[in-house]
Amino acid sequence: MTGPKTGIFIGNEWVEGNGTFDTVNPSTEEVIAGVERGGEREVDAAVAAAREAFRGEWSKVKPPERARMLYGVARELERRAEEFARLETLDAGKPLQHARAEMASCAAYFDYYAGAADKIHGDTIPQGPDHLGFTVREPVGVTAHIVPWNVPLGMVCRGLAPALAAGNTAVVKPAEQTPLTALKFAEIFLRLGFPAGVYNVVPGYGEEAGKALSEHPEIDSMTFTGSVETGKAVLRAAAEHVKPVVAELGGKSPQVVFADSDLDLVASEVSKGIYSNTGQYCDAGSRLIVEDSAREPLLERLVENAKGWKIGPGMESLDLGPLVSEEHFGRVTGYIESGEREGAEMLIGGRAEEFDRGYFVSPTIFDGVERGMRIEREEIFGPVLTVQSFADAGEASAMANDTPYGLAAAIYTKDIDKALAFATDVQAGNVMINEYYAGGMGSPFGGYKQSGTGREKGLAALDNYTQIKNVTVRIRR
Ligand code: NAD
Repeated sequence: MTGPKTGIFIGNEWVEGNGTFDTVNPSTEEVIAGVERGGEREVDAAVAAAREAFRGEWSKVKPPERARMLYGVARELERRAEEFARLETLDAGKPLQHARAEMASCAAYFDYYAGAADKIHGDTIPQGPDHLGFTVREPVGVTAHIVPWNVPLGMVCRGLAPALAAGNTAVVKPAEQTPLTALKFAEIFLRLGFPAGVYNVVPGYGEEAGKALSEHPEIDSMTFTGSVETGKAVLRAAAEHVKPVVAELGGKSPQVVFADSDLDLVASEVSKGIYSNTGQYCDAGSRLIVEDSAREPLLERLVENAKGWKIGPGMESLDLGPLVSEEHFGRVTGYIESGEREGAEMLIGGRAEEFDRGYFVSPTIFDGVERGMRIEREEIFGPVLTVQSFADAGEASAMANDTPYGLAAAIYTKDIDKALAFATDVQAGNVMINEYYAGGMGSPFGGYKQSGTGREKGLAALDNYTQIKNVTVRIRR
């Protein structure tokens, strides 16, 4: 593996910023590298480079050629997947096997949208015999992408691939905790001969580089993935220049279990839904809502399952890596303490005491959770499951919807009527029946309520990165 790239990538060149900031290996607490710190000036330069590419070289690349280039990104990423996966594991702490899966999904985003690049077209609009009306779907221009640390390169590729496929250029601001794979990705664009300015990366702090990018008058759209609080700030900044925002925000997603389901299978799905990536998925199924009669047998199985997760440094590729940072570790353990203080009963879990270094928390289950407790209301973003129970289907849906979030929801039952009635009633952008994280590249993803606006993934995402021009011609008088 070559050393991690630590510069700022603007217009196909590596430049310096205003000093550096450290990125840390969360498994060992060791500093991996000092990364150049971008601010307003670098964001300005990156947006200018992206604008020039959009007006110039990139606009001359015809859609089928654009498709070939994007397929090229996928192949190159596959060829170097191990190198990228190791860097991701080092920076984000996730088990190597998960980082490998992340790289495979990054390549899949590029394949999916490469296939769409020459199929983005408008409609003809009936106007009667004297007019011809049609629409053209044009790229929006310079797209900005602010991403979080939980799936660092995955969150870049999810927005970047459709943006480039539609003919836009991009400025990416990775999370300060995990900037390394987004930077390394630049090597692929250089190697494949992409025009300067198509892909730009400005690492740095949210309050500096992130804020400067969201406030920049010359960006044409913003894709923000992160917390609700920051999302609101980004939406306010975008309003100043009337820019569209895709906001992919947090969640407090329910997993509803009916007593007629196969409880062994459910225990493994519920656990996967909350513990994967150490609970650091926006759509983690953090609230178990179980039918009264299934509660005891399911909890027994869940506690057994929780004991089976092997925890350790990402490079050892066990089941559960550390949380991403010391700060986040403090946040998650703070929620665990608050659950105990507020009277919930911790059946298993808490801080993983066996490690004297690294930010490890064990799979944690809280029973006796009451409405209004902080662990019941707020997104913890760690491997912490809360348990509540219900008496009938109406109550289950009401509890599932009793949250300001609406990102995902799962239901487990053998009764198709119950499953589809729940899917209809639940206010969530993504409903999964009998399997957590079911869905693929083509499945649109996004939030109801405060979980966000707009949709990523699927052909729906192309709407974020195109604008419709209507043309009407008078052909006869
Ligand atoms: P965060 O909001 O703290 O940071 C996200 C990004 O925003 C980072 O790059 C950060 O540097 C930047 N940022 C911070 N302050 C900013 C500002 N004032 N202006 C502009 N940018 C700023 O979120 P996080 O802690 O990195 O990520 C965790 C959150 O992300 C969770 O809430 C999780 O649910 C959410 N998330 C959502 C999705 C989704 O698809 N809905 C996916 C992954 C993560």
